[in-house]
Amino acid sequence: MQRTKIAALLQTEPIGTAVQVKGWVKAFRNSQFIALNDGSTANNIQIVVDSENTDPELLKRIKFGAAIGAIGIVIESQGQGQKIEIKASDITIYGDCNLEEYPLQQKKQSLEFLREKAHLRFRTNTFAAVFRIRHALAFAVHKFFNDRGFFYLHTPIITASDAEGAGEMFRVTTLDAQKPPLDEQGAVDFSKDFFGRSANLTVSGQLEAELGAMALGEVYTFGPTFRAENSNTTRHLAEFWMIEPEVAFNDLNDNMNLAEDMLRYVIAYALENCKDDLAILEARLIEEEKSKPQDQRSELTLTEKLRFVTENDFERLTYTEAVEILRNSTPNKKGKFQYPIEGWGADLQSEHERYLVEKHFKKPVILTDYPSAIKSFYMRLNDGTEPGKETVRAMDILFPGIGEIVGGSQREERYDVLLAKMKAMHIPEEELYWYLDTRKFGTCPHAGFGLGFERLILFVTGMTNIRDVIAFPRYPGSAEF
Ligand code: ATP
Ligand code: MN
Repeated sequence: MQRTKIAALLQTEPIGTAVQVKGWVKAFRNSQFIALNDGSTANNIQIVVDSENTDPELLKRIKFGAAIGAIGIVIESQGQGQKIEIKASDITIYGDCNLEEYPLQQKKQSLEFLREKAHLRFRTNTFAAVFRIRHALAFAVHKFFNDRGFFYLHTPIITASDAEGAGEMFRVTTLDAQKPPLDEQGAVDFSKDFFGRSANLTVSGQLEAELGAMALGEVYTFGPTFRAENSNTTRHLAEFWMIEPEVAFNDLNDNMNLAEDMLRYVIAYALENCKDDLAILEARLIEEEKSKPQDQRSELTLTEKLRFVTENDFERLTYTEAVEILRNSTPNKKGKFQYPIEGWGADLQSEHERYLVEKHFKKPVILTDYPSAIKSFYMRLNDGTEPGKETVRAMDILFPGIGEIVGGSQREERYDVLLAKMKAMHIPEEELYWYLDTRKFGTCPHAGFGLGFERLILFVTGMTNIRDVIAFPRYPGSAEF
């Protein structure tokens, strides 16, 4: 007999038919009622065991965590809480679960504890929901771009350029760590290394995506990126996934519209397609917030928060306007910011971003036109800004509870301006000759952005630590599993 997945069973409710299901025992009550889950949905199917006519030795092995199969007839459920159940005629045990040694328990366990048991945490309702939503969001990202005629470009994971400056890089080498070849100055001689030069894991696929956009028009990347930044925060990973669209002939405004449309689309997709999983996470969040003082609890539930984003335009303002708001804000005047806002020019810290989003505007915010000095070399210089007060066509999207979720810009398409900027920022032009070539031959205005996939998942799932939305998180001091 063919196995039926529980998701399909609950959807079609084929009362009267014989089915076979396979999964893991979530609970076994009264030696009679098994709650079985196979991962296809957040919901369990109830299996009713005829315990009087079942081998007691087999009954004993039906335990929380065990892998089993059941064959039986689908019937209307007699009990509360489910519409159908399976009246089992045959039970197979695939894998026993010794509860004396099994680290998971039927009761709630802390996220911190489960992080240490990342190889088993998929089996909890919370993490199963998170990873099903992660999948749905990835699919929605591809669907969004595909439906709009974008091409998915696979940019390299190993790169030789370390010029981008997005973050500290991990070196990739096959040289002997004990006795690396040295050059005449006694430095490690990377010309003897695998690639004939020093190589790193990529921090971003943007520069290569720009090359693709200059012929394919609209491209996006969706792949892993790596940053050796020693930031032990709830929003940083050493290995994370980034989505980077790059579009020829787009300006900053088009870029903001694209980012906003995309975020709205994927969030709406999750609302529509992940209802059961969102319900689990919403309940989890309500439970978690009970331990917080009343004034720190969120006013909206998880799905209300998501719906709010899909239904309201993001607030758009310039860096300069934001600095004015922050300078005059109560926390700034009362010295409550760790980094007080004194004037124009400083980079905004996460506390400032969160004030703007969570306290001042109470909605997602897009900040534009940042000072040139605090942004990357490839961002387009605004025309007619005062010397010393130059700004670039940058945009950062800030989300409640997250801070920066997207960073992007219109790119500097003018060869001379780009070259001058690279010189001023000490970016070696010989290393990036290929990038400069796009500006030499058939250059055009273009724009793109990077969306941190895990930060998006954090927002949609209501989880608070980025280490809980990627299966096996990599961060300083940890690369287990
Ligand atoms: P932050 O200031 O938060 O460190 P950033 O300015 O370094 O971010 P970008 O270089 O613009 O970020 O990267 C684009 C996007 O990638 C960010 O908006 C964010 O969503 C995500 N991102 C950046 N660094 C990390 C990280 N270490 N872990 C997870 N996501 C990240
Ligand atoms: Mn960073």
